[in-house]
Amino acid sequence: MRLENRITDLKGIGEKSANLFHKLNIDTIEDLIHYFPRDYETFREPVTSGQAKEGEICTLRLVIQGTPVLKRVRNLSILNVTGQDIDGQVTITFFHMPFLKNVLRPGSMYLFRGQLQRKGTSCYMEHPRMYKEEEYGSLMSCIQPRYPLTKGVTNQMLTKAVKGALENCPMPKDPLPEDIRTKYGLPGYRVAFENIHFPEDMEHLVAARKRMAFDEFLSFILMLRRSKDAVENTPNAFPMMETAHTVRLMEQLPYRLTGAQQRAWSEVCADLSGKYCMNRLIQGDVGSGKTVVALLALLMCVANGYQGAMMAPTEVLAKQHFDTFASFTDKYKLPFRPILLVGSMTAKEKREAYEKIAAGEANLVLGTHAIIQDKVQFQNLALVITDEQHRFGVRQREELAEKGKQPHILVMSATPIPRTLAIILYGDLHISVIDELPGERLPIKNCVVGTGYRPTAYRFLAQEVKKGRQVYVICPMVEEGEMDDLENVVEYAQKLRAILPEEIQIGHLHGKMRPAEKNKIMESFAAGNIDVLVSTTVIEVGINVPNATVMMVENAERFGLAQLHQLRGRVGRGAHQSYCIFVSGNDRPEIMERLQILNKSNDGFYIAGEDLKMRGPGDLLGIRQSGDFAFRVGDVYQDADVLKLAGEFAGQILSGELEGDFENYFGTSSRFFL
Ligand code: ADP
Ligand code: MG
Repeated sequence: MRLENRITDLKGIGEKSANLFHKLNIDTIEDLIHYFPRDYETFREPVTSGQAKEGEICTLRLVIQGTPVLKRVRNLSILNVTGQDIDGQVTITFFHMPFLKNVLRPGSMYLFRGQLQRKGTSCYMEHPRMYKEEEYGSLMSCIQPRYPLTKGVTNQMLTKAVKGALENCPMPKDPLPEDIRTKYGLPGYRVAFENIHFPEDMEHLVAARKRMAFDEFLSFILMLRRSKDAVENTPNAFPMMETAHTVRLMEQLPYRLTGAQQRAWSEVCADLSGKYCMNRLIQGDVGSGKTVVALLALLMCVANGYQGAMMAPTEVLAKQHFDTFASFTDKYKLPFRPILLVGSMTAKEKREAYEKIAAGEANLVLGTHAIIQDKVQFQNLALVITDEQHRFGVRQREELAEKGKQPHILVMSATPIPRTLAIILYGDLHISVIDELPGERLPIKNCVVGTGYRPTAYRFLAQEVKKGRQVYVICPMVEEGEMDDLENVVEYAQKLRAILPEEIQIGHLHGKMRPAEKNKIMESFAAGNIDVLVSTTVIEVGINVPNATVMMVENAERFGLAQLHQLRGRVGRGAHQSYCIFVSGNDRPEIMERLQILNKSNDGFYIAGEDLKMRGPGDLLGIRQSGDFAFRVGDVYQDADVLKLAGEFAGQILSGELEGDFENYFGTSSRFFL
């Protein structure tokens, strides 16, 4: 069996399963072994309900007492059943699993895994996972992977398939020489792959992760540096002059640019009119006002007779940019002829857009990545701006180069990375930092609370809605009981519908919805037709709904602080007082202390730094600082050392100091960065 073979060569995988796996972009055996767990789980010995620590995941061995009781509250089906162990009774609640009524027979014994909660002398567990004795026993033997799932593909299916692949398939040759691996504590390919999926113990897992992160960083850096030669000193093919338009616009704006915005703008302006092609990153915290700098750059671009484009990572954000630019165009009589181009448009709409772009009728294109791919032909594209992402790299540059002359590139990001790391990662990018927030905003009020605070929080949400405000509730993508994030957000929204007053409109949003559907929900939220939006972190990036004043984050302990800070940036954008409620599912002092950092500061750079200091190697898993880098395993914050190591290595490889066959690293990166 070979890596490039289809997964149907594995025992137990037929066409039907292959079609399901395809939804996860797994077609070949190589895809499969590169499909890494998003988290791991250790199944410890079951405890008794007396021993269980409140708020921590534990497993109880309970005997069912009496028959389960099934209730319906509006759309929600709730099943309650009592279980007993030597310490007493535990009330177990399941949502939307009415069929369990006939499974949980009185006298039968099951293992229930979830969070135990106590109220007075009573114990509760909501929506636990359930196991039979033998099943649980086999899970206890090693650390278990938890894969990102989709409907129809369970964790067991993936576990079994990956096991089969690792057992039957030879690994590719390891491009890293053994002496170097030993020196830096990097395991070889086979050990690394085996342990990233099925870790023998924590130590092996940490080492496997390190190897994978190293590979990702190294190939990213190699690709970038190699293309750097191509970009560096590329003459400015689209020289521009500053025109009266930008100066006039700055005079007409209802606010003055902050000093930091002005600096960024003058750097961009100098690039555009300079000798070489622009290749610049603007880093600025959420709300620091990056959009207006982009707008000025694009204005200069079209005023010089060229076309410009701005790409956003999501359709929702692209649409928002389109609306912003269109209203600026009207209000300030700007020479923009903007057009929206996103994947969910109909074929006819897209065709019309292509024609307008090719004919130069549209001089400003706002959209997702689709705008520099596919069939889009520009007349004279001179400037490409990407908002809220870092991954604009080599491939896109190559794609653009194929379309004609190399346009100027401006990347905007709110993720704070220390300058030293940014230089390793982006090598050739020039960096402008917007380190000043526009004044006159009310500071956001924060609180970090346990789950017991929920009823109070819900009453507070209802009050704010009554005042005319709007609310975000964020749920993590949890796979409790093998449900994907889809069901979790849906379920939470349903629960809220049962709890909040009926007149409150509740909507939900998650990453697996179709883009058109997401846009509709987001638009409806922006228009004020939805009061409470329950969502995964898909709303994390860039959205601007100034009327939203409350951000409630469930299971805040599962997020990196930098990510929570980004979420917080979605509120506090208007004139009203805004609030952030971070609900921690775990009230261990060190976890609460970590979250309290958010309380102390509003500075993204500071927060990310403090977060790193507080976490040890054991915390490396499960929490990603930021979801918006294209790395699957490596995290530029927590793996800063590995990144530095990879940076040094890349230097040695490119200078020819280090001998070996490293072409593989150039090749594999496309896997990581698409
Ligand atoms: P981000 O940097 O997160 O993309 P935005 O560009 O969306 O931030 O700006 C956030 C809000 O701040 C917008 O409503 C924008 O109009 C406003 N804003 C931008 N610059 C200034 C400024 N200098 N003074 C006051 N408000 C500003
Ligand atoms: Mg923005």
